[in-house]
Amino acid sequence: MNFIPVNEPLLDGNEKKYLNECIDTGWISSEGPFVKQFEEQFAARVGRKHGIAVSNGSVALDAAVAALKIGQGDEVILPTFTIMSCAAAIVRAGAVPVVVDCDPHTWNMDVSQIEAKITPKTKAIMVVHIYGLPVDMDPILALADKYGLQIIEDAAEMHGQTYKGRPCGSFGAISTFSFYPNKHVTTGEGGMLVTDDEHLAERCRSLRNLCFQPQKRFVHEELGWNFRMTNLQAALGVAQLERLDEFVVRKRHIGKRYTELLSDIPGLQLPLPQTDYADNIYWVYGLVLKDEVPFDAEEAMLRLKKHQIGTRPFFWAMHEQPVFQKMGLFAGESCPVAERIARRGFYIPSGMALTDEQMDKVAFAVREVMK
Ligand SMILES: *Cc1c(COP(=O)(O)O)cnc(C)c1O
Repeated sequence: MNFIPVNEPLLDGNEKKYLNECIDTGWISSEGPFVKQFEEQFAARVGRKHGIAVSNGSVALDAAVAALKIGQGDEVILPTFTIMSCAAAIVRAGAVPVVVDCDPHTWNMDVSQIEAKITPKTKAIMVVHIYGLPVDMDPILALADKYGLQIIEDAAEMHGQTYKGRPCGSFGAISTFSFYPNKHVTTGEGGMLVTDDEHLAERCRSLRNLCFQPQKRFVHEELGWNFRMTNLQAALGVAQLERLDEFVVRKRHIGKRYTELLSDIPGLQLPLPQTDYADNIYWVYGLVLKDEVPFDAEEAMLRLKKHQIGTRPFFWAMHEQPVFQKMGLFAGESCPVAERIARRGFYIPSGMALTDEQMDKVAFAVREVMK
């Protein structure tokens, strides 16, 4: 019996052709022409003026925080239910992450909890769209306006998704994307910052490239990083982006089919098919074990592994991270929803290359382990 991995990308478009172009022309570094092409096409796709390609989605967040000059003495509000990259970028900059809990149905940050966390030190809200549904942006935009806060939008899981018809990645001062192989567009490793602000775009370009100076190259006024994306990665990106619409249709097919196959199994909470402001794009297909189920996600994942099904646990909440607790962060913080879904939630194979037949096998196995 073949193991069904949690993710498998689809690379059967122009990927090979464009990669060969890189080899044939010798353009393999970040200086190659695909980088600029990918930046322009990707930015246009999300309705942005500027795109800055970087080496992954995590460092895109580091660059976003640095570009907005967030540092010592500043607070940034973010969901506790997110990937480590978000809080790490804030902490590494010397700023303080302030978390809010998530909504039990969408798994996105509970926007009604944000205002109570705003203090005179709050500089920004880091919005993270989780698993397939966008965050309810309107209340956040209103708060940012009211209190003069910046928005950093982590749209790493949202290529091709919209909020009330407006592309995810078009909100906030800077938005970031990842092109890890489980994202809707992959470059193997890769990321992108997008913005409409010329000055911020320049800062991001400089931070990505060690803050070399145009005139005196090796004289540095500021510390940057080497976060450059290679032409090889961008070649993949251009080929993948050509198929984004098709990929979105495919993901929605996977989500719809799983929902049909799994909705009668007792004890399982499935992803919401839609909200008032978006149809789920199913970046991953998450399952949460209801309270009446006598085992947790860890046990469910073990059982599925015995059925040759790959899974991943849900995010572990930021306020429960040992690394942050050792730093004295989040003392006494309680976010019961995120704490519960971290223990009760996991996701099943939902990559672009997943076949209907594989979905049937996954659904059969889920049904077995829930008995
Ligand atoms: C994948 C992901 C990232 C990190 O991207 P990498 O390219 O893996 O560094 C950041 N934020 C979110 C929400 C993600 O899903």
